[in-house]
Amino acid sequence: MLEITALQKTYKLGKKKEIPVLKNINVTIQDGEFAAIIGKSGSGKSTLLNIISGLDTDYTGKVLYNGEDLQEIDMDKYHVNHVGFIFQSFHLVSHMSVVENVKVPLYLNPELSESERNERARDLLQQVGLENFESQKPAQLSGGQKQRVAIARSLANNPDMIIADEPTGALDSVTSAEIIQLLQDLTRQGTTVILVTHDLNIADKTDSVLRLADGEVVSFERKKEVTKKHSLKKEKKLRLNGWAIAKMSFRSFFNRKFRNLLVALGTSIGIIAILLAFGLGNGVNQSLSKIFGTTFSPNQITTYYLEDGGSISPEPTVPLTNSEIKKVKQLYQDENISEVYERTTIKGIKFEYDEEILEGVSGEMQEANFKPARYEDLTVEDGYLLSGKMVESEESGAVIPSGVARKILGKSDTAELTKKDGDKLIGKKIMLLYAGRNSDSANIVKTETVITGITNPSKEGFARGFDVSTKTMNDFIETAGIEKPILSVDAFTKTTSQAEQVVEKYENDKEWANYAITNANAFVDTFSQFTNIIVYLVAFIAGLSLAVAGVMIAIILYIGVVERTREIGVFRAIGYRKRHIRGLFMMEAGYIIILANVLSSAAAMTIAKLVSPILETKIGFEEMIHISFWNFLVTLVITLIIGFLFSIYPSNRAAKLDAAEALRSE
Ligand code: ADP
Ligand code: MG
Repeated sequence: MLEITALQKTYKLGKKKEIPVLKNINVTIQDGEFAAIIGKSGSGKSTLLNIISGLDTDYTGKVLYNGEDLQEIDMDKYHVNHVGFIFQSFHLVSHMSVVENVKVPLYLNPELSESERNERARDLLQQVGLENFESQKPAQLSGGQKQRVAIARSLANNPDMIIADEPTGALDSVTSAEIIQLLQDLTRQGTTVILVTHDLNIADKTDSVLRLADGEVVSFERKKEVTKKHSLKKEKKLRLNGWAIAKMSFRSFFNRKFRNLLVALGTSIGIIAILLAFGLGNGVNQSLSKIFGTTFSPNQITTYYLEDGGSISPEPTVPLTNSEIKKVKQLYQDENISEVYERTTIKGIKFEYDEEILEGVSGEMQEANFKPARYEDLTVEDGYLLSGKMVESEESGAVIPSGVARKILGKSDTAELTKKDGDKLIGKKIMLLYAGRNSDSANIVKTETVITGITNPSKEGFARGFDVSTKTMNDFIETAGIEKPILSVDAFTKTTSQAEQVVEKYENDKEWANYAITNANAFVDTFSQFTNIIVYLVAFIAGLSLAVAGVMIAIILYIGVVERTREIGVFRAIGYRKRHIRGLFMMEAGYIIILANVLSSAAAMTIAKLVSPILETKIGFEEMIHISFWNFLVTLVITLIIGFLFSIYPSNRAAKLDAAEALRSE
């Protein structure tokens, strides 16, 4: 039973002006009654209907439904359990099929399974005579058919009251009569129907007629007493499952696919940049540890003198004096390290092969015996050598850089160099040329040696030196007539952690301020930190473009809210809570982000595949761009968070739409 007492409603126009629209309405409508509200346009019919239906609770007076005050109860629950709406302009969701439209209210009933929902929706369509139109879109239906779909939808949750605002206003008289017949059948089954109409013929068919003029009741005539006593119905729980939100928002997302694709493409640009920055960082770090891992032992400590009062230099540049060598050896002894080598290095070596000086290549010659602990490991198999083998200290020999091999073979710097090419040079004689510290070209000294091996181009990126045997080094020193230049004193510890501890111990020691005491591992770590900073910086800058993407998403959602105002109004009237509406819009933003991630992941992987080999030939690092699974995941999560943040405002706008207002907008 619906009891309205002393109901007054005023609309405020501006700050001061108040327009009374409903003035002291008192009326009672029985359960199961077919009631008509008639009156001229502007007499307040729709306003009254909105109040009865709970869409508008801003009034004075009392409206009680089964004894409960509409201003005090949970409106969404009231809608789901008791009210079904039918509108003059149908308000069907245009991108959903007929059956989907009918299912919209059913998603709020957690007791139904998906197949039960389908079954129920089909039953309802059969009830209104539309069983053959299930998969049609509303645009393919006539007005009468659309209104039947709307009626089926209004009945979905078994309401005990149907509220219809001029349901036949847009229909011809024959169709109109059919719709009224349908509503009449419903009242026979015990449903209350309250209907606004202009049509006096329709009013004739109802049980009662409420006549309004200027917001006042002119007359209330009950032609037929309604005897049916309505049993109080047990209220169902109202819950919307996540799957339904995902499904409906995906439909809406798909319905605007072109526009969403554009936004996703825009978003991809930033994501691609971030993925590539991460990928490049990984590639550099991996290459670094590979190179240092093969050319330096992690157990090796290298100590050398720093020029310019201790500024950091990544490699030794000046020879140590005898007293400095002694000092370093003492340090190793204090640390109980027994395996110590003086490392002889001579820079600026040129090459002559077959009586011809090789132009454009020079190298830093080092005595290979300074790293015996690693010596045997450096083979063709592990990739350090392209061909041949390492030198043996008693015999004459040199492992030459790949650049020198290319020059000898007459190949360009970027040309491929195979093991077979290298094999041709093994055992061949080569001259090492030295013009002295001052590059005095008039006094070039030559020393003959034998090529025993060629370094793999991908492994010599940082290790610019090339190894010669102790015999070749001694021959060279003798012919050049120079003192053995010891650039560093190296030591090998038993464990890597011991090497790292020693490095750490002397790091801030003032006495050793002019020395670099280094370990390859520690060096790779520092270098990785450095690359990581750059990577994060680039990623951050790329991330800024994601803020732009966020704004785009916010705009596109906001446009969606404006376009879908009536749809949102219908959903709210059906009983969807504010948070459900919010969820539907946020989910749509989620789909845009996911699409953007899929697109950019594909693009970034393609770029990595195409560019890595080019970088390899240019820089010599393998797999320079390596995007890991974690990079993809982190980027996805970050962009989802951004999408979430930027969808808060438009989603809230949608959720807070006034349903009565939204449905009025034609
Ligand atoms: P009916 O449905 O009988 O044609 P309405 O209930 O829609 O009449 O409107 C009643 C009166 O209230 C009209 O004068 C209309 O202009 C006014 N009105 C309706 N909605 C608003 C509103 N949101 N703000 C101000 N005035 C309104
Ligand atoms: Mg109206």
